[in-house]
Amino acid sequence: MDKIKFATVWFGGCSGCHMSFLDLDEWLIELAQKVDVVYSPFVDIKHYPDEVDLCLIEGAVANEEHLEQLYDIRKKTKILVSFGDCALNGNVTALRNLHGEPDKTLELSYKSLATLNNIPNFDYKKIARLIKKVKPLHEIVKIDYFLPGCPPDAKRIKYFLEKLINKENPVLEGELLKNG
Ligand code: SF4
Repeated sequence: MDKIKFATVWFGGCSGCHMSFLDLDEWLIELAQKVDVVYSPFVDIKHYPDEVDLCLIEGAVANEEHLEQLYDIRKKTKILVSFGDCALNGNVTALRNLHGEPDKTLELSYKSLATLNNIPNFDYKKIARLIKKVKPLHEIVKIDYFLPGCPPDAKRIKYFLEKLINKENPVLEGELLKNG
């Protein structure tokens, strides 16, 4: 059987969803027999390849680079999964929407609240081209499956991956709805 071309992507999130993925521990060895990891923060591959079978995206869309990448990933991916609550609904990453304009967030983060290690004359507006409002993935492209949690529990991730690799529909119910 051909191996599944598998990717994971990290947008505007804390990496906690990827850490939970690593909590799959020895099952990762079993997973490695079924998938080829073609793109991920865990491997040193610079460009998202064509014809990816399955991709998990952690984090919300917060800047122009995420936006551009998300359109590209959607075109190149058969099954796209919103991975974790930031990807599903904005969650922690979308808290900056409360400030209104993105410049306000940059100003607060890098200037007015940076009392200990403030960098004199630092042009904080150049470091990130933030989009006006943080958005969940499904507001921008079609998402095939939603894997909730902050972060999703490792057993929930395992269940989802097993189902999708076997070309079955994952349905969250019972114990899978509980974290821990
Ligand atoms: S869903 Fe939670 S764990 Fe995952 S990136 Fe967002 S804040 Fe971090």
